[in-house]
Amino acid sequence: MRRRPLQCPFCDNYLAPPVDIHSKTIDVTGGICTCSAVYALDRAGHNLGEIFLEALGLACKGDLDKALALSPDRYETETFDYDIHTNTAARRENRRGKSGKIIFVRLKS
Ligand SMILES: [Zn+2]
Repeated sequence: MRRRPLQCPFCDNYLAPPVDIHSKTIDVTGGICTCSAVYALDRAGHNLGEIFLEALGLACKGDLDKALALSPDRYETETFDYDIHTNTAARRENRRGKSGKIIFVRLKS
């Protein structure tokens, strides 16, 4: 599948490349969309579980306790292959774990 510029899967906004975000509880490379979805980068595609938790924490504005207590029906999530050099993403298709991944999370209201 063709790579496309990084875009929010929930509202189709075009997004800036992930940046380093540090707070008391969060240490992640990602960003926040205007629709309140968040995204987080896993550079090597090896730490998806961990990065997913960071993204969830970011979606909860740094409240990791709240993030850990969320049940899966409270949020939506999407994962894409991501190329940081071109800021493009593609639907996950190959299972070779070489490329970076970008995880989107949006809390349901
Ligand atoms: Zn969005």
